[in-house]
Amino acid sequence: MSDLRDLYQDVILDHGRKPRNFHAMEDASRQLEGFNPLCGDRLTLYLKIEDDRVTDISFEGAGCAISMASASLLSETLVGKTTAEAEVVFQSFHEMLTGERGQPFDEKVLGKLAVFAGVCEFPTRVKCATLAWHTLNGALKGDHGKVTTE
Ligand code: ZN
Repeated sequence: MSDLRDLYQDVILDHGRKPRNFHAMEDASRQLEGFNPLCGDRLTLYLKIEDDRVTDISFEGAGCAISMASASLLSETLVGKTTAEAEVVFQSFHEMLTGERGQPFDEKVLGKLAVFAGVCEFPTRVKCATLAWHTLNGALKGDHGKVTTE
């Protein structure tokens, strides 16, 4: 189990240091800011949606490794999914992090995102990991302005 844990940490550190899809998007269909006042993480999420499908995702911002890694993996995971599928992934991810410890989660839905399972042991970090996801959820719903975790 400790090997698995190290692997998970490696993935989070790698994405935290070198976030993928880290840039602004000129022609985004949706754009929303997210802020986690507990840690100071802030990001802007850009989505391109065509025919109800997420065809591109990028983000900009600054924050801790967990918040940046979460946004990076979000962008990798959701491109190509329909908006309905993206919401299912959001729900599963949210349940994994806020549910009871040890609660089974659907690895088929979450894929690489399972690396964040251990974060639920650190309640103050849960908001770092879910910031990008709350922002995504707001953007899918067509919210404007800013999403905060508080
Ligand atoms: Zn954070």
